[in-house]
Amino acid sequence: MKEILPQPPAVVRNEVSRIQELFQRNVIPSYGRFELAFTHGKGSYVWDVNGRRYLDLGGGIAVCGLGHANEEITSALIEQSKRLVHVSNLYYTEPQGRLAEQLVRLIGSGHCFFCNSGGEANEGLYKLARKFGHDEGRFEIITAQNSFHGRTLAGIAASGQDKVKKGFEPAVAGFRHVPYNDLEAMRAAISPATVAVLIEAIQGEGGGVTPVSPEYLLGLRKLCDEKKLLLLIDEVQAGHFRTGRFQSWQRILEGVPGGETFLPDGVSMAKSLGGGFPIGAFWAREPYGALLSAGTHGTTFGGTPLGCAVALKILEVIYRDHLADNARATGQFLKNELASLTQKYPGVLKGVRGLGLMIGVELNAGIPAFQSDIKSAAVQFCNRLHAAGVLTIPAGTAVIRILPPLNLSRNEVEEGLRVIESVVSSLA
Ligand SMILES: *Cc1c(COP(=O)(O)O)cnc(C)c1O
Repeated sequence: MKEILPQPPAVVRNEVSRIQELFQRNVIPSYGRFELAFTHGKGSYVWDVNGRRYLDLGGGIAVCGLGHANEEITSALIEQSKRLVHVSNLYYTEPQGRLAEQLVRLIGSGHCFFCNSGGEANEGLYKLARKFGHDEGRFEIITAQNSFHGRTLAGIAASGQDKVKKGFEPAVAGFRHVPYNDLEAMRAAISPATVAVLIEAIQGEGGGVTPVSPEYLLGLRKLCDEKKLLLLIDEVQAGHFRTGRFQSWQRILEGVPGGETFLPDGVSMAKSLGGGFPIGAFWAREPYGALLSAGTHGTTFGGTPLGCAVALKILEVIYRDHLADNARATGQFLKNELASLTQKYPGVLKGVRGLGLMIGVELNAGIPAFQSDIKSAAVQFCNRLHAAGVLTIPAGTAVIRILPPLNLSRNEVEEGLRVIESVVSSLA
């Protein structure tokens, strides 16, 4: 007798290949993805669909500042979602006002605008700059080579890397790039049309974790004052206490004469701000926020009570648990240990850069085991770390980034270091 069985339901069966198939059929292939699919996480660990555990030193690209499945974030989400998720920016809500108050307190006298991503936060800064220079016909924004400012049309025009622009010409007008960390190059590039300078205080994506010097920051401030330019800093990746201070320029200028009074004119934020809940923001120094008067800028979801409640909870936990200090101390330990590894295996590791828990490890160009594969050394190194149970993020072709949760423990760091050393020694 013929057996009549119902068709199996079209559900994902926790297999990487099945999930990949779903993507191949239905998702635009704009990302180069690793062959890993994750189902859940806890703290600094995530588990893949096969139940294998990984130590996540990438933190979702500097996003999961309190790690995965943080219970206090979960409660904040639940509590706020029971009251009010969204009402739009036609009305006032308290969480948005309170979050803005916190950011102003942490940065300086000014005002905030809320959006949903880093690219969008930077868009707000471009519009602020254009408004600022509009009556004088000034519109040009100077950014750095190897910078990364997001994937919007203006974002790729702002980014100082050809690979993000290719195929999307014509570029949005009004952006020029100069060598990073070079004050004279910046001075020379300023034209009568220039209105602002935008830099990352630590280049992430494009620069492979390269900080600017304190002299450069102080010099830019003077130069911008002299030429009446807005000084804008993209802190989307380096910000939110990752370096041990709220914003990375504050860390870079620590103890530097004149550093404590330094303020940029605009700052963009996102990534760690919501710990995984999508929220972005920009801060504009007093009085520039007023340039964006009613009706000039907006976004439907920006500053939604749910996102702001989560961001407020994250700040509360960071203060209470002294996570800025942890980022500083744990980051310093990690960097020192990686520097010793570099000395021990100079054929594999070229150098270590960064501040706090934003660290870049540069690989040597000629690692023999990587020569037969066309994939970049950074991607091949990440793949080997995956096989050994650790996640990191490639930057460019030869750097891996370590951007873990700010509450990463000493034990976890030591575990990560053991795995990194095992991979490095296997390549030596
Ligand atoms: C990630 C990043 C962006 C873009 O943020 P999205 O949220 O992806 O739009 C912009 N600037 C820097 C420095 C970044 O690291």
